[in-house]
Amino acid sequence: MDMLINGTAAPAADGSWIEVKNPATGEYIDHVPRGSAVDVDAAVDAAEDAFGSWSGKTMRDRGLILSRAAEMERRDHKDLAHLLTLEQGKPLRESIDEVRGCANILEYYASIAGQPAGEAVHLGKAGDCLVTRVPLGVCGAIIPWNMPVIIMGWKVGPALLAGNTLVLKPASTTPLTNLKIADLFQEAGLQAGALNVVTGPGESVGEALVRNVKVKKISFTGNCETGHKIQKIAGDQLKGLTLELGGSDPMIVMADADIPKAVEGAMRGRFYNAGQVCTAVKRLYLHEQIALEFMRLLTAKVESMKIGNGLLPETDMGPLNNQSQSDRITSVVTDINEREEGKILTGGGPVTGENYAHGFFYRPTLISDVSPDAAVLKNEIFGPVLPMVTVPDLGTAIREANRSRYGLGASVWTRDISTVKEVFQNVHAGIIWVNRHLTIPPEVPFGGTNESGIGRENGFHALDSYTQTKTLFLGW
Ligand code: NDP
Repeated sequence: MDMLINGTAAPAADGSWIEVKNPATGEYIDHVPRGSAVDVDAAVDAAEDAFGSWSGKTMRDRGLILSRAAEMERRDHKDLAHLLTLEQGKPLRESIDEVRGCANILEYYASIAGQPAGEAVHLGKAGDCLVTRVPLGVCGAIIPWNMPVIIMGWKVGPALLAGNTLVLKPASTTPLTNLKIADLFQEAGLQAGALNVVTGPGESVGEALVRNVKVKKISFTGNCETGHKIQKIAGDQLKGLTLELGGSDPMIVMADADIPKAVEGAMRGRFYNAGQVCTAVKRLYLHEQIALEFMRLLTAKVESMKIGNGLLPETDMGPLNNQSQSDRITSVVTDINEREEGKILTGGGPVTGENYAHGFFYRPTLISDVSPDAAVLKNEIFGPVLPMVTVPDLGTAIREANRSRYGLGASVWTRDISTVKEVFQNVHAGIIWVNRHLTIPPEVPFGGTNESGIGRENGFHALDSYTQTKTLFLGW
């Protein structure tokens, strides 16, 4: 599949390619151009040329294009979901959720077109001011491989609605569904150049996009270390940034919780998308009165999960997305064993057998008796491994929950409103769920504190972040 530059399918300027492979089978699916800085510059120039006309449309007209693109995603959802499962690995029903989720985001932004009203400020005899919101210009979006379709929606929806034009760089292991959706935007009537997609390695294409001085803002989701690199380059140019760099979300289960519901919450919260979600449950804190029962129920559920190719209807969990993911998860669990930092209750290694030999399948893993200083609690585990810690009281749970360099999400499972208040007021996170985890509606801001990043996706907050104020001062 080619890139999309100025509304036209384009190969890499130097003609080279990257193969995209199925993480469940190792089989070749398709290839995409291995772009370079030359292709990035061409895409940015196209986006710059398109800016005047796109930003000159009414917000309502721009919203209509988002609506039509959402309609086409719904029309093609089966094909898009199939392609997403092929390149990403997740079960087909999760891919369908994701494609519909992206359509929901675009529809949400279409629905608020025209609502950001600006301000009128009366200054007495000195005059009146009209504070308007104008788009930034060309923006860059760098997308990861874990939820490429939803994350594309988070960035493209508000950026285009606000009147910006975009250059998007997909992850090299999951570029295909992003390219297909960009084509749907063209079919929906988006003008050429308003949304461009350049494929190729992060170190060259991603960095060239960040370095290009015509790009006014970068929105990036991915690894913390990559985020730091991007921030350094963007800082030199005073470029706007949204950085969503992951998390190590704690889930706290108190003795008064609805235990079966909380067990379901932990299952979905940790093992959805094979655990490769920024807001997944990455640390579980269980009150000592219910800890043993909770672990027994959770272990039984985990052991009944069907691991396999995401295209098979019975599959509960697919493979990890790529080789480095597989290596990372293997080394996390090996380290726990070697340092005796916890006890593996179930899982603890790759899935073996003929059907699994060419994919990155890892067994869902539960670890109990984790020592408070274990590395597995400090670093983000981006895979199906759940460390569990037993705590004597809420105070200890909150203290332990806050011993992390991240601060994206957190959840508490309880029936007691005073527990909710304690957690909401004291746990460091951008979102606190109660009796729920993982849900991120397009209407509410999403983002974290500390090393989880800066800025917010979703809601009016994201829309604002793709604009700046411009004031007309009327001196009477
Ligand atoms: P990266 O941060 O490397 O990749 C995310 C995106 O950034 C990809 O499109 C990648 O391109 C691009 N990229 C890579 N290097 C640069 C660069 N120097 N400048 C600009 N763009 C760049 O994440 P990984 O794929 O290495 O994943 C590693 C870990 O990161 C995971 O295990 C997880 O902990 C975390 N992560 C967090 C995510 C989240 O949702 N917050 C999502 C994904 C990962 P390319 O694919 O071509 O390398």
